[in-house]
Amino acid sequence: MTNNMRRDFSSRDELISYLRKEFPSAAAIDNHIGDIRGGRKAAEFALSQTDPRLYSRTRNTLDGAVTRLSPYIRHGVLNLAEVRDYALQRVEAPKEAESLIRELGFRDYFQRVYQAIGEEIWQDQEDSKTGYPPSAYSSTLPPDIHNASTRMACIDAFSKQLRESGYLHNHARLWLAAYIIHWRHVQWQAGARWFLTHLLDGDPASNNLSWQWVAGTFSSKPYFFNRENLEKYTAGVYCQVCPLKGKCDFEGSYTTLEARLFPQRNQGAEAIPVPKRWTSKEPNSSQHQLHHPIIWIHGNNLSPYQPSLKKYPSAQAVWVWDDDLLRTRKISLKRIVFMYECLLELPVSIRRGPVSVVVNEFANEQDADGIVTCYSNAPRFRQIQQELSQNRPIEALDPKPFIQYKGPLELKRFSHYWRTVETYAFQAATD
Ligand SMILES: Cc1cc2nc3c(=O)[nH]c(=O)nc-3n(C[C@H](O)[C@H](O)[C@H](O)COP(=O)(O)OP(=O)(O)OC[C@H]3O[C@@H](n4cnc5c(N)ncnc54)[C@H](O)[C@@H]3O)c2cc1C
Repeated sequence: MTNNMRRDFSSRDELISYLRKEFPSAAAIDNHIGDIRGGRKAAEFALSQTDPRLYSRTRNTLDGAVTRLSPYIRHGVLNLAEVRDYALQRVEAPKEAESLIRELGFRDYFQRVYQAIGEEIWQDQEDSKTGYPPSAYSSTLPPDIHNASTRMACIDAFSKQLRESGYLHNHARLWLAAYIIHWRHVQWQAGARWFLTHLLDGDPASNNLSWQWVAGTFSSKPYFFNRENLEKYTAGVYCQVCPLKGKCDFEGSYTTLEARLFPQRNQGAEAIPVPKRWTSKEPNSSQHQLHHPIIWIHGNNLSPYQPSLKKYPSAQAVWVWDDDLLRTRKISLKRIVFMYECLLELPVSIRRGPVSVVVNEFANEQDADGIVTCYSNAPRFRQIQQELSQNRPIEALDPKPFIQYKGPLELKRFSHYWRTVETYAFQAATD
């Protein structure tokens, strides 16, 4: 008798009703299920639809040819190197894939910053440049934003889409975040938590640092927009049906809006970024001679081609739903469904509970001499890794890197990072 969760489902509906029963708290947070299917097969199909040339021409418009690969990349179902390699194959000259490769670089950059600062990702990285003190911002998200009842057609549509599908176009994320922080004076952390509850690609690095970029605590100025900008990149679909058309909060030129949103910005002392220099740390891949290990699969490595399964193809593998994390992060059901679909394509026993305790139980059952996993830069991973290492050696294998560059990196701004790594980012990975 094992504590394994089910793997035998005849349909997606059957899986969903099982997960609704197993994770009632996640379903109570939000009961919607997204259309994006989990798993490597679905990821490969989405990758095959990627057109780097069309992407570079249209990526800023809401109906542009963006890839929707982020949930797969976030969970390691695809890695950045293979997306980049595929993009290079699809074009005649590397330049034609530049726009997409640069965006992949943003993800790599945010991950490196996360590696360097850990839980500090929840703190302002620099002084705000809005002219307002932190006390001017509320710590909770107003209900009309998450209920989609602001009466602004665009904002309500983005809110609904986030909750119902778990995916938002980058531009919609920017507009929604700017509205929440600069028009509604809500702390970026409250918005970031809301996004992490719903996004299928929810990732503290890309998410929190993007929120901070909008807030102006990780950039040289706050990001805001006007109605013209939104109308241009949405083909006017929201403005046409908006009850507030012509009198919404986004009306006006950038100069007018800047004066309205940040009246004290130029009057006080010029906000100075906290002088912080980051250099990247190399992931630690501890090597051990293991003969009969088990594999611990976690949320960053849900690919059948990930290094642990490749190196130890006959080892038994376990996944553990981290109930504590699901509760504290308020992860909604759609993300659980997505991840479960990924797990169903992997040779893994699915369990739940306190992660290190359950992985240890599994290792005892298998009489394992060690645990193999993939390295992750999340502080929680490092904590669990530390707990597991009390009982057995643990080998954390590095995922395939996006760039081969190993020297020091200036991470204060993306532009600094990109200047150093750009050439490497266009080099296809070697096995
Ligand atoms: C407020 C806010 C919150 C965000 N939260 C997240 C998050 O939790 N998880 C997440 O993966 N991304 C996040 N992003 C970044 C970006 O919006 C998404 O990665 C992108 O929209 C995903 O859609 P896509 O796969 O169709 O992207 P595409 O435009 O097709 O890009 C391809 C891939 O490049 C990477 N990428 C693209 N743009 C960015 C970017 N600006 N920053 C980092 N990586 C990028 C992603 O891995 C993406 O899948 C956030 C952006 C903002 C403004």
